[in-house]
Amino acid sequence: MAHYECKYCDSCFGSAVFDGDRVCIGCGAEWADAKILVEDDEDES
Ligand SMILES: [Zn+2]
Repeated sequence: MAHYECKYCDSCFGSAVFDGDRVCIGCGAEWADAKILVEDDEDES
């Protein structure tokens, strides 16, 4: 599995919609620009 995180916050705050634009909850960056796809580490040992 994988999920999106903000590349500016380096954390997983997620996103929300303000005034019709989806932005990062953490820093307010435009989500379309800020999001990066992060692969979940499933290599549990
Ligand atoms: Zn952010």
